Amino acid sequence: MPDTAAGPTVAVDDQSIAAAGEVVGFIDLGTNSVRLLLVRILTDHAVETITEQKEMVRLGDNVYGDKVLRPDAMDRALSVCREFAELARGTAADVDAAVRAARAASQGNWGRMAAADRGRLLRRWADAVEAHRDELAQIESQDTGKPLKQARADAAALARYFEFYAGAADKLHGQTIPYAEGYTVLTLREPHGVTGHIIPWNYPMQIFGRSVGAALAAGNACVVKPAEDACLSLLRVASLAASVGFPPGVLNIVTGLGAEAGQALADHPGIDHLSFTGSPDTGRRVAIAAAAHHCPVTLELGGKSPQIVFDDADLDAALPVLVNAIIQNAGQTCSAGSRVLVAAPLYETVLERLAERFAALRAGPASMDLDLGPLINRRQQQRVWDFLSDAQADGVPLAAQGEIVDDAPAEGCYQAPVLLRDVPADHRLWQDEVFGPVLAVRPFDDEDEAVASANGTKYGLVAGVWTRDGARQLRLARRLEAGQVFVNNYGAGGGVELPFGGVKASGHGREKGFEALYAFTRLKTVALRHG
Ligand code: NDP
Repeated sequence: MPDTAAGPTVAVDDQSIAAAGEVVGFIDLGTNSVRLLLVRILTDHAVETITEQKEMVRLGDNVYGDKVLRPDAMDRALSVCREFAELARGTAADVDAAVRAARAASQGNWGRMAAADRGRLLRRWADAVEAHRDELAQIESQDTGKPLKQARADAAALARYFEFYAGAADKLHGQTIPYAEGYTVLTLREPHGVTGHIIPWNYPMQIFGRSVGAALAAGNACVVKPAEDACLSLLRVASLAASVGFPPGVLNIVTGLGAEAGQALADHPGIDHLSFTGSPDTGRRVAIAAAAHHCPVTLELGGKSPQIVFDDADLDAALPVLVNAIIQNAGQTCSAGSRVLVAAPLYETVLERLAERFAALRAGPASMDLDLGPLINRRQQQRVWDFLSDAQADGVPLAAQGEIVDDAPAEGCYQAPVLLRDVPADHRLWQDEVFGPVLAVRPFDDEDEAVASANGTKYGLVAGVWTRDGARQLRLARRLEAGQVFVNNYGAGGGVELPFGGVKASGHGREKGFEALYAFTRLKTVALRHG
């Protein structure tokens, strides 16, 4: 067992948690008191039990006798997994209290704080995250099932987001605009006030970092609803915010069910901007709720991202990237490269080399730090199985499959990576997001066909192009319908600095990079007539 294993109290922070066992609605960083905590430890956190813990039910579970209501509660209750934490089931009243706390902060000291001082706080937070990186990685790995190396990378990215936005806080400014004689016109970039953030379970720390980091740098106060399936790391990160000196009410986290706490956040008229990452259906629901109170939204809704391999591609460079783009986080990544188009002359070669790699991949418990951990829950596993059954029923050829290690409990939600070839362009495996480690491959004859096929889904988040032809690189960068296009790489190592977001059903608005700061501010035009 690694010596960095989290102790029996996940979110215990010297200053910020009053007593393990308290279960309350939201974290208020200002009180440092009983309102703070939401984790009650029922058993210890031994790292080797990660897979068992994967299926525990936290909120709304009948394990605790009074809070069930999930349709799949029975499945979970019957799983091999054990409970190790109980979290508050935040209500609309908790959301309201959190929004009020945030509003008070935004109208108080936080709202008056100099941008450079906000940046300094973010910088201290980044340092605290870095100092607690192993602990945060342990928590994230335990909570999501992702291999430790992935969780460590996520913790590093979180620190980097805070660092990036710390440096950006005092560089965000308006402009002057040339106008008529006798006028001076300027623009002011002002924070929205209170921003809401709905975070999914696949990359809690990273998505929190990109969204909340930018919102705070721009001067907003935040209310966050993490996913029911994975919120422990964010509670710890929030406690670190308290310890580095963020003022009361600036950051509030409401745990709970999506349909309750999440919906209440989207509905709340006190939210001035909402940032959502998750499924298209929930995103639409959230956007409709926000529209009812004229609240702007940023939606990041996943994708079916293609990579195109031309016949002049550097295959040695491309192949490991093609594989990693679909197995990272067991394929539960919004920007997963889940489709590959290969130039016909190279098709069999690429498939053969991909197949070799897929056959060597191993899925198993997070603590074993293999290529893939388990999927997040039984529902997600069933979703992947449904796609694979359709593939089988429709005769889509299986080119290769990885393995699930023997040490993985049979009841766990493991999925070996799967490589499918000749996938018809109208098949749901080519069209719809699986959110699992399933790569669909098909050949193309010419550039027009490749572009049409790459663009031929409802999504448009990320695309990759592998070619040495400079003109083609530029043409494709323009022709592909996606928020990000990578040429001879994919994902660019996380790209904290790179604006990110989708077109079409992948959503709208941009997070990450400096661009995100614009979304988290509103522009005011001031026209002075002075003669
Ligand atoms: P959801 O879109 O339902 O959940 C995302 C977030 O929204 C979670 O915090 C969730 O809370 C919250 N939420 C759920 N319902 C509401 C609501 N009515 N109002 C406000 N917030 C709500 O995704 P799922 O977890 O159900 O996953 C389903 C599919 O979505 C996956 O298979 C995958 O295809 C896609 N997905 C895409 C992600 C991405 O990064 N783009 C991330 C996660 C999923 P809670 O979890 O507590 O219900």
